[in-house]
Amino acid sequence: MTREATKPFRIATEEDREAVRDGLEAEAVFPITLPEGQKVTGVEIGCEGCGEPIPKNDTRFRHQEPVPDTHVIEALGVCRSCRLLSRSTRRVMPDGRLQWQLDNGTWVESTFLQARPIPWWDLDRQIRRAARRLVRWCARALLQRLR
Ligand SMILES: [Zn+2]
Repeated sequence: MTREATKPFRIATEEDREAVRDGLEAEAVFPITLPEGQKVTGVEIGCEGCGEPIPKNDTRFRHQEPVPDTHVIEALGVCRSCRLLSRSTRRVMPDGRLQWQLDNGTWVESTFLQARPIPWWDLDRQIRRAARRLVRWCARALLQRLR
Protein backbone atom coordinates (compact mmCIF):
# COMPACT_ATOMS: atom_id res chain seq x y z
CA MET A 1 0.00 0.00 0.00
CA THR A 2 1.39 3.41 -0.89
CA ARG A 3 1.59 6.15 1.68
CA GLU A 4 -0.95 8.22 -0.26
CA ALA A 5 -3.59 5.51 -0.05
CA THR A 6 -3.52 5.48 3.74
CA LYS A 7 -4.10 9.24 3.97
CA PRO A 8 -7.76 9.91 4.71
CA PHE A 9 -9.79 11.91 2.24
CA ARG A 10 -10.22 15.40 3.59
CA ILE A 11 -13.90 15.54 2.77
CA ALA A 12 -14.98 17.49 5.78
CA THR A 13 -18.70 17.79 5.91
CA GLU A 14 -21.69 15.57 5.30
CA GLU A 15 -22.70 18.10 2.62
CA ASP A 16 -19.43 17.46 0.76
CA ARG A 17 -19.99 13.74 0.90
CA GLU A 18 -23.53 14.15 -0.38
CA ALA A 19 -22.39 16.49 -3.16
CA VAL A 20 -19.88 13.95 -4.48
CA ARG A 21 -22.32 11.07 -4.14
CA ASP A 22 -25.20 12.85 -5.89
CA GLY A 23 -23.07 14.74 -8.40
CA LEU A 24 -23.52 14.12 -12.11
CA GLU A 25 -20.84 12.79 -14.41
CA ALA A 26 -19.56 15.14 -17.12
CA GLU A 27 -21.46 13.24 -19.83
CA ALA A 28 -24.76 14.00 -18.10
CA VAL A 29 -24.14 17.77 -18.08
CA PHE A 30 -22.07 18.65 -21.17
CA PRO A 31 -22.14 19.89 -23.82
CA ILE A 32 -24.36 22.82 -22.91
CA THR A 33 -25.43 24.79 -25.97
CA LEU A 34 -25.91 28.53 -25.57
CA PRO A 35 -28.43 30.58 -27.59
CA GLU A 36 -25.69 31.91 -29.94
CA GLY A 37 -24.61 28.36 -30.71
CA GLN A 38 -21.53 28.35 -28.50
CA LYS A 39 -20.94 25.09 -26.70
CA VAL A 40 -19.67 24.59 -23.19
CA THR A 41 -17.91 21.26 -23.44
CA GLY A 42 -16.72 20.99 -19.86
CA VAL A 43 -15.48 22.70 -16.76
CA GLU A 44 -12.00 21.89 -15.53
CA ILE A 45 -11.15 22.18 -11.89
CA GLY A 46 -7.71 22.51 -10.31
CA CYS A 47 -6.77 20.83 -7.03
CA GLU A 48 -6.67 23.32 -4.16
CA GLY A 49 -3.76 21.37 -2.72
CA CYS A 50 -1.31 20.85 -5.58
CA GLY A 51 -2.87 22.97 -8.34
CA GLU A 52 -2.91 20.11 -10.82
CA PRO A 53 -6.03 19.73 -12.98
CA ILE A 54 -8.32 17.03 -11.67
CA PRO A 55 -9.17 14.35 -14.26
CA LYS A 56 -12.70 14.38 -15.63
CA ASN A 57 -13.42 10.94 -14.18
CA ASP A 58 -12.74 12.21 -10.66
CA THR A 59 -14.99 15.25 -11.06
CA ARG A 60 -18.72 15.42 -10.38
CA PHE A 61 -21.05 18.25 -11.29
CA ARG A 62 -24.17 19.95 -10.05
CA HIS A 63 -25.98 21.86 -12.72
CA GLN A 64 -28.73 24.43 -12.29
CA GLU A 65 -30.45 26.72 -14.71
CA PRO A 66 -31.94 29.40 -12.41
CA VAL A 67 -33.13 31.44 -15.39
CA PRO A 68 -33.30 30.14 -18.97
CA ASP A 69 -29.87 29.86 -20.65
CA THR A 70 -27.94 30.88 -17.54
CA HIS A 71 -26.12 27.90 -16.14
CA VAL A 72 -24.66 27.51 -12.69
CA ILE A 73 -22.18 24.67 -12.69
CA GLU A 74 -20.65 23.44 -9.48
CA ALA A 75 -17.67 21.18 -10.05
CA LEU A 76 -16.41 18.90 -7.29
CA GLY A 77 -13.15 17.14 -7.90
CA VAL A 78 -11.15 14.72 -5.82
CA CYS A 79 -7.38 14.81 -6.28
CA ARG A 80 -6.05 11.31 -5.84
CA SER A 81 -2.55 12.31 -4.78
CA CYS A 82 -3.65 14.94 -2.22
CA ARG A 83 -6.83 13.02 -1.29
CA LEU A 84 -8.51 16.40 -1.16
CA LEU A 85 -11.88 17.59 -2.39
CA SER A 86 -11.86 20.82 -4.39
CA ARG A 87 -14.95 22.71 -5.34
CA SER A 88 -15.58 25.48 -7.82
CA THR A 89 -18.77 27.21 -8.88
CA ARG A 90 -19.02 28.82 -12.32
CA ARG A 91 -21.83 30.68 -13.95
CA VAL A 92 -22.15 30.72 -17.72
CA MET A 93 -24.17 33.63 -19.05
CA PRO A 94 -26.35 33.30 -22.17
CA ASP A 95 -23.81 35.28 -24.26
CA GLY A 96 -20.90 33.04 -23.25
CA ARG A 97 -19.38 35.15 -20.49
CA LEU A 98 -17.98 33.08 -17.65
CA GLN A 99 -18.33 34.09 -14.04
CA TRP A 100 -17.11 32.42 -10.92
CA GLN A 101 -17.63 32.88 -7.24
CA LEU A 102 -14.91 33.83 -4.78
CA ASP A 103 -14.81 32.47 -1.22
CA ASN A 104 -16.54 35.61 0.07
CA GLY A 105 -19.47 35.04 -2.27
CA THR A 106 -18.70 37.76 -4.86
CA TRP A 107 -18.96 36.87 -8.52
CA VAL A 108 -16.05 37.81 -10.80
CA GLU A 109 -16.13 37.63 -14.54
CA SER A 110 -13.85 36.69 -17.39
CA THR A 111 -14.28 36.20 -21.06
CA PHE A 112 -15.25 32.68 -21.86
CA LEU A 113 -15.15 31.51 -25.44
CA GLN A 114 -14.60 35.09 -26.54
CA ALA A 115 -15.44 38.51 -25.14
CA ARG A 116 -18.38 38.92 -27.45
CA PRO A 117 -20.04 36.07 -29.26
CA ILE A 118 -18.98 35.82 -32.90
CA PRO A 119 -21.98 35.19 -35.12
CA TRP A 120 -21.47 32.23 -37.43
CA TRP A 121 -21.40 34.43 -40.55
CA ASP A 122 -18.54 36.44 -39.03
CA LEU A 123 -16.67 33.28 -38.19
CA ASP A 124 -17.20 32.04 -41.72
CA ARG A 125 -15.78 35.29 -43.10
CA GLN A 126 -12.76 35.02 -40.80
CA ILE A 127 -12.04 31.47 -41.92
CA ARG A 128 -12.26 32.47 -45.58
CA ARG A 129 -9.98 35.45 -45.00
CA ALA A 130 -7.43 33.19 -43.25
CA ALA A 131 -7.62 30.69 -46.11
CA ARG A 132 -7.01 33.43 -48.71
CA ARG A 133 -4.05 34.70 -46.68
CA LEU A 134 -2.60 31.19 -46.58
CA VAL A 135 -2.97 30.74 -50.34
CA ARG A 136 -1.25 34.08 -50.98
CA TRP A 137 1.55 33.18 -48.58
CA CYS A 138 2.10 29.80 -50.26
CA ALA A 139 2.14 31.40 -53.71
CA ARG A 140 4.71 33.97 -52.58
CA ALA A 141 6.91 31.30 -50.99
CA LEU A 142 6.74 29.24 -54.17
CA LEU A 143 7.66 32.23 -56.38
CA GLN A 144 10.62 33.06 -54.17
CA ARG A 145 11.92 29.52 -54.49
CA LEU A 146 11.60 29.64 -58.30
CA ARG A 147 13.61 32.83 -58.58
ZN1 LIG B 1 -3.78 17.67 -5.47
